[in-house]
Amino acid sequence: MSAPAVPSALDASTQAFPTLTEAQISRVRSCSKLRPVQAGEILFEPGDTNVPFFVLLSGKLEIVQPDLTGERHLATHGPGAFTGEMTMISGRRSLARGRVAEAGEVLELSADEFHSLIARDAELSEIVMRAFILRRLHLINRGYGNLVLMGSRHSARTLELREFLSRNGHPFTYVDLDADQTSQELLDRFEVKLDEIPVIICPAHGVMRSPTVQKLADGLGFSSDGDASQVRDLIIVGAGPSGLAAAVYAASEGLDVLVIETAAPGGQAGSSSKIENYLGFPVGISGQELANRAIAQAQKFGARMMVGHCVARLDCDRHPYAVVLDNGSRLAARSVVISTGAQYNKPRIANLERFEGQGIYYGATPMESQLCEREEIIVVGGGNSAGQAAVFLAQTAGKVHMLVRSNELSDTMSRYLIQRIEENSAIELHFKTEITALDGDAHLERVTWQDKSSGQTSGRDIRHVFVMAGASPRTEWLKSCVAMDSKGFILTGRDLDMAAVAPVWPLARPPQMLETSLPGVFAVGDVRAGNVKRVAAAVGEGSIAISLVHRALAEM
Ligand SMILES: Cc1cc2nc3c(=O)[nH]c(=O)nc-3n(C[C@H](O)[C@H](O)[C@H](O)COP(=O)(O)OP(=O)(O)OC[C@H]3O[C@@H](n4cnc5c(N)ncnc54)[C@H](O)[C@@H]3O)c2cc1C
Repeated sequence: MSAPAVPSALDASTQAFPTLTEAQISRVRSCSKLRPVQAGEILFEPGDTNVPFFVLLSGKLEIVQPDLTGERHLATHGPGAFTGEMTMISGRRSLARGRVAEAGEVLELSADEFHSLIARDAELSEIVMRAFILRRLHLINRGYGNLVLMGSRHSARTLELREFLSRNGHPFTYVDLDADQTSQELLDRFEVKLDEIPVIICPAHGVMRSPTVQKLADGLGFSSDGDASQVRDLIIVGAGPSGLAAAVYAASEGLDVLVIETAAPGGQAGSSSKIENYLGFPVGISGQELANRAIAQAQKFGARMMVGHCVARLDCDRHPYAVVLDNGSRLAARSVVISTGAQYNKPRIANLERFEGQGIYYGATPMESQLCEREEIIVVGGGNSAGQAAVFLAQTAGKVHMLVRSNELSDTMSRYLIQRIEENSAIELHFKTEITALDGDAHLERVTWQDKSSGQTSGRDIRHVFVMAGASPRTEWLKSCVAMDSKGFILTGRDLDMAAVAPVWPLARPPQMLETSLPGVFAVGDVRAGNVKRVAAAVGEGSIAISLVHRALAEM
């Protein structure tokens, strides 16, 4: 798929709602069924799954979205136009209602027929993918989704749910209860108590009171791809850049692949405001945009994606292997790619966990930056990600204190970033400095830090601290299944101590590059011992792993 260039308003609307030519329509006709439709007939409803793809030959079709006060109009399709948006690619529930406004004829393709059409017809694939992406952006920009999130900036769960929906590109309307007094009426109508905030109102599912991410994901059908009876060729655990690259290559090469992601596809890179050193993007690209393109690409080729559930365990003592989810479901696969990355270590400071989401953050996305506009803030860490966060947050915050434990910025920090930090008058560097106390009531209000070289302690009224120092691999779910180094990073290929692995390694050949101590189980990206912690390295390893998966599958 070639990604849409930044279009003008006019281009954007023609590219979002193009009219197919006669030649293009005849290619759709050859694999579809002709269906006469009558005025008032409903072709699909919000919440429907496996919605067919329709091309209009004659008549008119209205696309509307039910909301709390009735219905909002999204588009009217005429002859030559086609229905759908990103849910057609992801296989998730429809966000809109399609109602015939004027009788006519349509071509109808089932979801499977549609997927095989765009897989073999490059021209139609490009037109449809571009339109779907632009339609989704249109919905996101206007907050036109199938749900309303009513929350408060004083609630950690609100931030968690907003971040989950935004990072998953799911359009929603946010109502800030701190600013919008009239919404109290709505809360009263639904008898919502204070401790039940945030509230999700969704025409298809009613009212969800302070739901967990898992519950919301289940409600939205983000995790509906887990057919437990199926043995897949490959399960990829983790959808950061390495897992997404593996998914694109696996699906495009015909493997039956499922990706399982606990939070949001994009991983750590998805929280990066701008990646400037990834090949092919001279002016940089936000991690979220890179992730969105990769997700669309993987799903276009047929990769299935399950979001909102965590893999809690790998059953590795028999083949096919099985991953076990946090809700107990078991999903079997003949091979597994582990791409669960790393997460920031939590420094040992009293009250840290108490203020998580209410003053303590582990990511710096536009969501968090809105929370600390014009305020004085702290970024903890001296590596690349802390540096990027400091530069990004300095655009909105009043002042950024960067607290670094050692006496210099990390030698792995990119040169351009060091220069930007040093030249930015809104960023103040404090070397050999550590936080010693966090205080506040419901929200963080005061931070104390100590300069370890002078012993001097300072306290300031600061309400936002971004912790981005030191990361540990996310391998807790693997227990004793695969060999790891002393820090828990997964050993692969030649790094495996064959003497130690030999008793359990059942094959005559040694493990392949990126293969763990379990045949057919591979580790890629930040979770792998010896990996270079960069997006390009993660993407490269994810793609290489697939050629090795083919070899492992051929042996089974
Ligand atoms: C703020 C920031 C800025 C950065 N900037 C740059 C940059 O400019 N250039 C650059 O090259 N690199 C940059 N990096 C580093 C880069 O993002 C990482 O090297 C890259 O994301 C690693 O990719 P990954 O796929 O291995 O792991 P991750 O990106 O960490 O993805 C792992 C995924 O696995 C999921 N997961 C974990 N455990 C489970 C489980 N049990 N079940 C299901 N899912 C699970 C996680 O939710 C996550 O989405 C940056 C990192 C950060 C944090």
